[in-house]
Amino acid sequence: MLVHESEFVQSNAVVVQGRAGVLLIDPGITGDEMACLANDLSDSGQTVVAGFSTHPDWDHLLWHAHLGAAPRYGTARCAATVRDQLSDPGAKADIAAHLQETEIAGQVPLDLLGLITALPAETTQIPWEGGPHVRIIEHQAHAPGHAALFIEERGVLVAGDMLSDVLVPMLDLDGTADPIEDYLAALRLFEEVAGGVDVLVPGHGSVGGADQVRARIERDRAYVLALRDGRDPSDPRIGPSAKPGWEWVSDVHNGQAQRLARRSERDGTPG
Ligand SMILES: [Zn+2]
Repeated sequence: MLVHESEFVQSNAVVVQGRAGVLLIDPGITGDEMACLANDLSDSGQTVVAGFSTHPDWDHLLWHAHLGAAPRYGTARCAATVRDQLSDPGAKADIAAHLQETEIAGQVPLDLLGLITALPAETTQIPWEGGPHVRIIEHQAHAPGHAALFIEERGVLVAGDMLSDVLVPMLDLDGTADPIEDYLAALRLFEEVAGGVDVLVPGHGSVGGADQVRARIERDRAYVLALRDGRDPSDPRIGPSAKPGWEWVSDVHNGQAQRLARRSERDGTPG
């Protein structure tokens, strides 16, 4: 397994080697990075036989022509959400406008964005030949149809946008009726496999070892519970202890806290 880390929000692309080719999870961000990855793979005689997007956010939906034409899978809910997003003719222009304000303006090819093949609902494994079994752990947290992938025989958990050492849990406040409970349920799913994880790869942030798995689950749970209860989470990822360059995560936190407070005022329920 290889991890390719982007400069942009420390995004991790993951390559899982099989006998007949590789599975590429969340391919990367800039055109140069993805082309570089495609070259590295072809130099070592490997082709991409399947792709996977962990969830329907633009930074996990990209692709580069040099990576080839393998099917790019996502959960049924992920694929349906992307289809819905892209049915708006202005969708890509909106992403491009957002990127215009970042250091990677003009460097992200959007032409192949979001061409996701839906896996049937309840699919529990990536359909690919000759590779290790890759279990799909789908849950409703962060984004509709978000899925982590667990490669049990190699002890690898690819967590998508969860269990990050730099980003706090970002809840899907529009997508579900009970985003707090859904997030906690997702963390419980991770807990069930935690004992078999030697390497944890978050969508953004540092790769963690076995010792990091339960620590990150606990930290995310503590954060979500604080958010639910309207307490200060005293989380090392926000406030003065945030990593340099990640100060904006505090704004994400404040935004979520405010929205949840308004929500509970409105319907009298926590979260
Ligand atoms: Zn992301």
